[in-house]
Amino acid sequence: MFQWNFCPRCGHEFELRARDDGRLRPTCPHCRYTYYANPGLAVGVLLTDEQNRVCLILRGEEPRKGYWGLPAGFMEGDESAEEGARRECHEETGLVVALDGLYQAFSYYHADRKTSGVLLVYRAHRIGGEPHAGTDTVDVKFFSAQNIPFDRLAFRTHIETLERWRAGLK
Ligand SMILES: [Zn+2]
Repeated sequence: MFQWNFCPRCGHEFELRARDDGRLRPTCPHCRYTYYANPGLAVGVLLTDEQNRVCLILRGEEPRKGYWGLPAGFMEGDESAEEGARRECHEETGLVVALDGLYQAFSYYHADRKTSGVLLVYRAHRIGGEPHAGTDTVDVKFFSAQNIPFDRLAFRTHIETLERWRAGLK
């Protein structure tokens, strides 16, 4: 698990201390702040159009630069999961979407952040905007089920989402 060395509140060096649950956590001996390594919460959309094609973005940033993925990203601390999913989609694709409910929830291990994470994928449809590459993306395309670039997808969770969606069309 990733460990911070210094207290973000006062800058004092952290110590590892056990609280009631016995788990060692970075704790500040100066101001008593305790760092809890809670999982990251990511949100994304399974956005399809009238021709039953799915929207994917080509990633322009690491991790997985040059791979395709669902429009997705991490929730901000001042928004709901649904707001985050719509925001990420708009930032990455230029499209304004409405959500049609939760499609799938994943629990995964985030190797770069060395912590577990949760991804919520929502069904979505477009209500405005024009597709264009945006933040961290270099291309936006709609793919029919037979043309999904499965060998160039960024993340296991996105592959599983798209496999399930493709299987449901048959
Ligand atoms: Zn402190």
